[in-house]
Amino acid sequence: MHEKKIKIKVALARDLLQRNKILAGDLRTRFAEQRLAVINLLGSPGAGKTTLLEASLPLLCGQYRVGVIEGDLYTTRDAERLARSGAAVIQINTEGACHLDAQLVGGVLEELPELDLLLIENVGNLVCPVGFDLGEDARAVVLSISEGDDKPEKYPQAFQTAQAVVLSKLDLLPYVSYDLPAVLATLAHLNPAATVMQLSATGKSGLAPWLEWVESVVAKKKRGS
Ligand code: MG
Ligand code: ZN
Repeated sequence: MHEKKIKIKVALARDLLQRNKILAGDLRTRFAEQRLAVINLLGSPGAGKTTLLEASLPLLCGQYRVGVIEGDLYTTRDAERLARSGAAVIQINTEGACHLDAQLVGGVLEELPELDLLLIENVGNLVCPVGFDLGEDARAVVLSISEGDDKPEKYPQAFQTAQAVVLSKLDLLPYVSYDLPAVLATLAHLNPAATVMQLSATGKSGLAPWLEWVESVVAKKKRGS
């Protein structure tokens, strides 16, 4: 009996992911038609996703028409922070759900103006957002120094499915016990193709490589490749 229940649960989870895959495929077609570059930003709560966007948006908004989808459990605090930048910001409150899915993203696209770049800040979580494709061109994981140096090993899939890894809050390095060379080695082993960047968004240092990476995603999409 117990085993049967588990089997049903596994089948339901598979259906959910299958359905998401189909909807994400529709989104990808739509984004391709619009030549809209989409980046899915993952990371734990407090990793610095919103702070990174806050530092980047004033610079990106000078170059592109930028929109942000803010995924949060309940509040609109992060969306309010980002709206000051001049980007078009849409909030999705998941009401307790711990990830965004393609249906939620598809449901708010009509509210956004015509854009060159859409940044999606996922719900703070390194586990289940990994399985939910949002039709994005690239995925970036933000990992802060304060989270500890064991996280890439503990949550490998988040890092394996990303095209970029941003090591944030580098300014804290002198104050915490954190083996940066070991983290870099783990990342290189888990995902040798990923672009790894180190920055401090509050100190505004190291932002240039991140902005260049974002620009490369947009340029690639404009070329239609
Ligand atoms: Mg946030
Ligand atoms: Zn979830």
